[in-house]
Amino acid sequence: MFGRRDARNWLTGAAPPVACWTVASLVQAQELLRRHFGYASFRPAQRKVVASVLTGRDVLAVLPTGGGKSICFQVPALVQAGLTVVVSPLISLMQDQVAAACARGVPAAALHSALDRAGQEAVLGDIASGRTRLLYLSPERLGRAAVTLRQAAGVPALLAIDEAHCIAEWGDDFRPSYRALRRVRYLLGQPQTIALTGSATPEVRRSIVAALGLGRRYGRGPAGFDLHLGSFDRPNLWFGAVRVEDERDRMARLLALLADHDQMTLVYAPTRNSTERIAVALRRAGHRAVPYHAGLDKERRAAVLQAFLADRIEVVVATCAFGMGIDKPDVRLVVHWSAPPTPESYYQEAGRAGRDGRPCRCVVLWRPTDAEIHRRQLDVTFPDRELAERVWRNPAARATVPRTVLASIDRLGSELKPVRGPVDWRPVMARRKKAERRLAVMEEYLARSSCRRQSLLAYFGERLGRCAGCDQCQVAPSAARLPPAAAQRLRQLRAAVGLRRGPWGGALLDAEVMLRLAVHPPEGGAALAEVAGVGPELAARLGGTILDALSPPRAEARALPERSPLLLALEQWRDGVAKAMGVPPYLVLTDAALVELASRRPSGWAQVADVPGVGPRALAKFAPALLEILAKREPERI
Ligand code: ADP
Ligand code: MG
Repeated sequence: MFGRRDARNWLTGAAPPVACWTVASLVQAQELLRRHFGYASFRPAQRKVVASVLTGRDVLAVLPTGGGKSICFQVPALVQAGLTVVVSPLISLMQDQVAAACARGVPAAALHSALDRAGQEAVLGDIASGRTRLLYLSPERLGRAAVTLRQAAGVPALLAIDEAHCIAEWGDDFRPSYRALRRVRYLLGQPQTIALTGSATPEVRRSIVAALGLGRRYGRGPAGFDLHLGSFDRPNLWFGAVRVEDERDRMARLLALLADHDQMTLVYAPTRNSTERIAVALRRAGHRAVPYHAGLDKERRAAVLQAFLADRIEVVVATCAFGMGIDKPDVRLVVHWSAPPTPESYYQEAGRAGRDGRPCRCVVLWRPTDAEIHRRQLDVTFPDRELAERVWRNPAARATVPRTVLASIDRLGSELKPVRGPVDWRPVMARRKKAERRLAVMEEYLARSSCRRQSLLAYFGERLGRCAGCDQCQVAPSAARLPPAAAQRLRQLRAAVGLRRGPWGGALLDAEVMLRLAVHPPEGGAALAEVAGVGPELAARLGGTILDALSPPRAEARALPERSPLLLALEQWRDGVAKAMGVPPYLVLTDAALVELASRRPSGWAQVADVPGVGPRALAKFAPALLEILAKREPERI
C-alpha cells in the first residue's frame, strides 16, 4: 500500500541512513544514465539535483531550457522502486517524451484523453503490476485519477511537476489546474516532489514553492526542500537589437536580416493581423513564410507546425501563441518585430533558437513607441480604479466604456468580489507595478550601450563572467555551416529517425546527438552504443536504422544481409501492426528482434520465445502472426 520510503518510515519510525544510501544510489544512477541515455556523466547541475532527489527531500530545480531537466526525474525513477508520476502541461510534450523514453528502454506511459478505454485500462494494468515506472499526465487528468492511482500503485515514489512555472498566476503560461496540485499531492499521500522549471525569476520560484507546499510533508518524509539553480547563459545565442526609424524601416531591416540567411527563422510579431501582414510581405520578397496565431483553425495550425518541423517553410511569423513544447532544434534566427513586453517572454522566445547547441542569432527590431503601446495595454489590463468601481456600482455606466476595458473590469470583479464590501486593491496595484518594472527592464535592454547578455542574465539574478556574443560586445555571430558530407548524413539521419518520430513530431533522437553522429559517424553497433547520447539500450533498438542512415547511399551498402526479403516482410507486417495500434514500429518489436527472427527462423512458440527482444507480452500477441510469416517464406538461397 505504501511506497518504499513510506514503508520504511512507518516500520522503523526513524530517518534512514541517508548519506551512504545516497552514494550507492548515485553510483547506480550513473550506470543507468550510461545504459539508457548514453551519457558518461551527469551535468554538474543535474548531479546535484539527482543527489537531492535520492535523499528523499523535495526539490525545486531551475535549469534553463535545454539544461537537461527530464533526466533529473527519469533516472531517479529507474533507481527508486515504485512509480514516478510526471505532470506535464501538453499532451504533445508527454507523448513525445514517452516515445523517446520507451525507445531507450525506460518503461514509460501516459494517461490522456486521446487514449480509448481499452488503452487506458492497459496503462492502469501496467501501473498496478509495477511494470510502468514513469507515468505522464496533465494536471487536470491527475486531479481526476489521483485516488485511483493511489489505490493501484500506492503512494508514488516521486511526483515530478514539469514546467512548474505554469503555476504562477500572473505568468504568460498560467494554467489554473496547476494551482490544484497541492491538493492532488495530498490525495496521492504526500509523495516526495520535484518541481522543474526553465523560468528563472525569484518571484516564480517563490510562487512554485508556496503553491505546491514544497518541503511540507507533515511527517511523510524529510522536511525542507533543496533549491538548485543552474546557469541561464546560453553561449550559442548571439543577442542584438536594431533601432528602426519607422515601419518601412522595420520591414527593410527584417529583409536585410533574412537576406543572407537561408535557414529556419522565427519572427515574433505582437498581433494576429501583424503576423498575416508580415508573412505576405515576406512572401512577396521571395521567402517561404507563413503566419501562425491562435485565430487560425486547428487544422491550419497543425499544417503549419508540420511544415515547420519538416523544413518545408523557412519563416514562421507568429504571435506568442507559437510557444511551449514546440521544440525544433535548428532554428537559426529569432527576430522580434517589435519590443517584447517582458524579459521573461523575450528570453523564452529567443531561446527557441539553437536548441541543437549551434550558433544562432536573436535580434529585436524596436522603436521607442513600442513600449508606449505596451503601456497603453497595461491601462487596459489594469483599468482605472474609480472607473471600475463606478461600473461595479452602476451597470448603466458600462455603455461608455470600451469593450476591452470592460473585460478587464469584469475579470477584476470576479477576483476582488466588490459585492462583499470595500475592495482591497493592493494586490492588483502590486501586479501592475511588477508589469511596469518588467517593461522598463526591457526598454533598458534595448536602449543600452553595454553588454546585452549581461543585462538579461542580471535580471534573472545571474552574474556573467564573459559574454559569448552580442552586438555591444562586438563579437560577431559565428557561422553555422556543416561540411557538405556531414550535412548530407544529417539529412539522411533525420529522414530515417524522422519516420520513427514521437507521435507529435518530436524526434526520438536529440538534435545534438544526431549532429554528433553526422559529424563523426560510428563504425558499427558497438561504437554507436558508445556515442554520447545513444547508449546500449537505444543502440539495441534503433541501431540498424541509424547506421544504415549514416552509411553512404550506395547500392552495395543497402544489400546487407539484414535486408533480406524475409526481413522486409517482417518489417512490413510490423509497420501494419504499429499503424493499427497507433504506436511507433519499434514499440511493436525492435529492429534487433526482427533481425534475429529473420536469421533464426523459429518454427514454434518456444523458439520464438527464445528470441531476444520478444518478451512474454509480444509473444502472446504476435507469435501466431510471426509464425505464419516465417512459415510462408522458403529458406532463402545463400
Ligand atoms: P530541458 O527539459 O531542461 O529543456 P531536456 O531534458 O529536454 O532539457 O534535455 C536537453 C538536452 O540535453 C537533450 O538533448 C539531452 O539529451 C541533453 N542532456 C541531458 N543530460 C545530459 C548529460 N548528462 N550529458 C549530455 N547531454 C545531456
Ligand atoms: Mg523539459
